[in-house]
Amino acid sequence: MGRNRSLANINANKSTYTAYRGREVNPKDRRYRTYNRPVMVFDETGSMGYLKSGVQDDRPEFVIVSAIILDRESFANVSSLFPKKNRAGFKYSNATAKDVKPIVEKLSRIDFTFSEIHRSRRNEAFMSNKDRIEFYVQSISELMDFNDPHTPFDVLIDAPPVNAVPELELLCAEKFENGMELEWFEVKSSYGEKILQVHDFVTGLTGDYINGIESDKSKTFDKIIEKRRFRAHRFGCDCEK
Ligand SMILES: [Zn+2]
Repeated sequence: MGRNRSLANINANKSTYTAYRGREVNPKDRRYRTYNRPVMVFDETGSMGYLKSGVQDDRPEFVIVSAIILDRESFANVSSLFPKKNRAGFKYSNATAKDVKPIVEKLSRIDFTFSEIHRSRRNEAFMSNKDRIEFYVQSISELMDFNDPHTPFDVLIDAPPVNAVPELELLCAEKFENGMELEWFEVKSSYGEKILQVHDFVTGLTGDYINGIESDKSKTFDKIIEKRRFRAHRFGCDCEK
């Protein structure tokens, strides 16, 4: 099915997307949905804006992070440590070191691994929207291949920073056709979505690490660094992590 589709007949303005086994979802699929499979989660940190030479920025790196989570319930439950006030919108970026410590402590005892791809925003891949989408989707594709658990699994992607939903839709269909055991594939907002919200802490800490940000908050990354599997500097990266 996916092979016959083209970008032209997919709604280009969507920010969310759900597919079941590489195709459109029908009501019966939803009725029998279960949540007992591993889930591969994606999120990114940093702007995708091009950085001109000579322009200083504390965060010159754009970082895409993906975790493969075997016990999604324990992972989602880490969100019970979020402050009650604004729990559904709680994120790494607005958390204090005091908030982050118990969260990372708990994460360190949970069965998951994560991988990342990053690239300097001084690279020309950030100059056009077409190239930004290509880099973003290509990174997701590589991380999917690397993290593939070779067992049926779900994918959950935080709403992309570029309008890449049509390309993600094609990617999902292609991976499924090529034999990847994709069950539920979703692109959605992290608001109130516990797994994405908890994963945002893994992403935020990884982003701080790659960008060399040093603080009481960022140094808690030490507690989960051993869960990092694959990492890649893309061409044009000038960091040393
Ligand atoms: Zn690098």
